[in-house]
Amino acid sequence: MRLLVTNDDGIYSPGLAVLAEAAAAFGEVRVVAPNVEQSSASHAITAARPLSWRASVVGTLKGFRVNGTPADCVALGMSQWEGVDVVLSGINLGLNLGNAMWHSGTLAAAKQAALLGVRGVAFSAPIREEQPSFERIKPALHAVLQRLLPDRSLTLVNVNFPPEPDGIRWTRQAVRHYDGYVVPGADPAGREHFWYVVRPIDQVEEDTDLWAVRNGCVSLTPLRLDLTDHEELARIQAREPAPKLRGKARAESARKAADTAIEESEP
Ligand code: MN
Repeated sequence: MRLLVTNDDGIYSPGLAVLAEAAAAFGEVRVVAPNVEQSSASHAITAARPLSWRASVVGTLKGFRVNGTPADCVALGMSQWEGVDVVLSGINLGLNLGNAMWHSGTLAAAKQAALLGVRGVAFSAPIREEQPSFERIKPALHAVLQRLLPDRSLTLVNVNFPPEPDGIRWTRQAVRHYDGYVVPGADPAGREHFWYVVRPIDQVEEDTDLWAVRNGCVSLTPLRLDLTDHEELARIQAREPAPKLRGKARAESARKAADTAIEESEP
């Protein structure tokens, strides 16, 4: 099995080394990660300048550092390494729960894999600097990889670890609350600046990713790329008859209908 490993904290993040070394137990690993931190870069790609990469070392493994975003790393890595089976992203230094998924570069790397037809898994943990705290989640990380890697039906999964994992829960994304706020704050010269701050969410719905992690479980959320609100679409389509096609689209539709009629009438 070929495993491409990336992250959004940058190639020198301790979380990347922990994930890459855990992945090495399951197959051939190649690390392709941003050369500098790209947290909250979400799914940005670098379209206006060329990308380049340089050989690097990640723990005991060889890797490449890229002057781009997490999504760039996956697109570049997959273009230069054939037969990638799965992309693993993380372990992010910080959780990616609920609506934080919209901003997450860690998850975006896994989404980029899914866009390219390969499975993607994102990993996040509430860890800042201290390396030893990874020791507490290593057994759970191995268990999650063992559970997810053989399962080809899971195309995109967001995994979050609590500080001391005790069991695994399948969850849904906590979407009801958003924890980002903008607050003003002056610099030493008195100029006004603004900062994003995160305020903890108090109300936690059962069976969500946030709920699982707060209860000490590893949260596994299966995701999909389709953002369509299918319930709303069905409601609208039932209520409002679709307007007739116009111009080019109408001609195309008529041509297709005629082709179908000819095929059906042919013996
Ligand atoms: Mn990050």
